[in-house]
Amino acid sequence: MPAHTPAPRPNRSIDRRALLGGLTAAGLAAAGASPAYANPRGSGPVGDERRGTARLAAACVTETSLPYQSSVNSAALYYEPTNAAASFRFDSTMHSRLRVWQTFWDANTPYPVMTSIDSYGAYVNRNDGCVSMHNYGRAFDIASAWTGGTRHFTARYDIWKAWTGTELTNVRVQYWAAAASLHMHFAHTLTYLYNTAHHNHFHVDNAVSGSGLSSLSRSGTQTWSVQAMLNYVWGKGTGIDGVWGAQTTQHSDEVLARIGKGGSLTSSQSHWHAFLTATTRKGTGMQAY
Ligand SMILES: [Zn+2]
Repeated sequence: MPAHTPAPRPNRSIDRRALLGGLTAAGLAAAGASPAYANPRGSGPVGDERRGTARLAAACVTETSLPYQSSVNSAALYYEPTNAAASFRFDSTMHSRLRVWQTFWDANTPYPVMTSIDSYGAYVNRNDGCVSMHNYGRAFDIASAWTGGTRHFTARYDIWKAWTGTELTNVRVQYWAAAASLHMHFAHTLTYLYNTAHHNHFHVDNAVSGSGLSSLSRSGTQTWSVQAMLNYVWGKGTGIDGVWGAQTTQHSDEVLARIGKGGSLTSSQSHWHAFLTATTRKGTGMQAY
């Protein structure tokens, strides 16, 4: 495997808060709070071996067929639990989709060019009968993204859910702006609303959207996320219940009218993309609409 030189990292507010709250990365790992992610310093199953799994199922792909990647465009990858520079094995199409997403993010947000992404990993042999796209290097778990010490977004809901006032408002709007950008590029995007396993990262994979952009199927995770975007980014007071009802339709129609697109989210893929692009731009302060 390639050699890595751990880079010194700036202090970040999320890290300080983690320490203040007693939620150190080491503590979380020791508590088993994180699922079985690949150890970026070793081969996929190392984490499971360390926890004493007796037998490992055959890998779903030949691990060595997935090249290591240490960045997504200009954003270097770091392993969230250790805060160290890291490489992960990716399916090449999946990594290409992440590059397209990252380019979209830089083009539609006011932040300086993204220089780092904190992650829990990509490829890992989950020993789950090849259910998870992580088994194929076609999934990626994103904790946060930065330019130096400037936060683009953090998916550490486990930390920021305890924040209050404008800090909570701002981090949550940022979170849903990031979710919008990810939903556009990955039909299967999981947020903290999905389950507690996703309280510290976005999960994205290209099982559904393959080498293209997403379409709206009003899947459970898409419905939860649209409602949260309407509520937190657009201030619609939308109920967040995972059920696509008349209120969700009405509020999303109102946003499409406001951004000059018109129609409904179900009208076409371009309506879905217009909503997600505008949500990314509004949530990051790129455009007020
Ligand atoms: Zn995942």
